[in-house]
Amino acid sequence: MPLDKYELERYSRHLLLIGLEKQEMLKESTVLIVGAGGLGSVASMYLTYMGVGRIIIVDDGTVELNNLNRQILYNDSDINEYKAVAACRKLRALNTRIVFECHKERFDENSGERLVREADVVIDALDNWSSRLILNNLCVRNGKPLVHGGVEGWYGQVTTIIPKQTPCLNCLFVGRKITDRRNPFPIIGFTPGIVGLIEVAEAVKLLTKLGELLTNRLLLIDLYAMEFRVINIEKNPRCPVCGGV
Ligand SMILES: [Zn+2]
Repeated sequence: MPLDKYELERYSRHLLLIGLEKQEMLKESTVLIVGAGGLGSVASMYLTYMGVGRIIIVDDGTVELNNLNRQILYNDSDINEYKAVAACRKLRALNTRIVFECHKERFDENSGERLVREADVVIDALDNWSSRLILNNLCVRNGKPLVHGGVEGWYGQVTTIIPKQTPCLNCLFVGRKITDRRNPFPIIGFTPGIVGLIEVAEAVKLLTKLGELLTNRLLLIDLYAMEFRVINIEKNPRCPVCGGV
């Protein structure tokens, strides 16, 4: 789908870097963002600014006052509203050319399957491992690239999963006990800001086939020590999710 005059001007600064053809690829793409909290706020805003044609957001939570140190899509007037509804309203105001589809439902095996199938790339913007492993399972089963991001406190991590080619999230945890974080968990606002933006960079590169991806690698971010480390990760042949594929 060719870009019109408005889009050519709006995206002109990054068109210098990626070119028309890649921008048209973004325009024709669908990204699913699972979670509309701190990671999802940043991811959805910047994918909107990039000109991704269709953005699907799923989150069953409502906006709470203690979210406002990091969930930059929202403000005081959104408190108690469904995040998915408030997010769509905010995002439409940022870029009227994007199609937004927002679901105020819990992401689970049933609701998730259809949404994952619709997407070209999926962004993990979740805050718990039980939902995350369901998402991982659905992405592997449907062959959809998944950009994983996780945060707690001053720490974050990112990896990009391409089913059949790279380790999946479950590979990292085979044989280990997964415990979800304490509630309320400590988080400082800029951590999901940084991690969410790295997820966007990965999603854009996946969609445009540009640059190097964080595949087979896990980026570990420690903002307290200000250290960024990348460790190699490997597929686990005993992984019940992707081991057989
Ligand atoms: Zn696996």
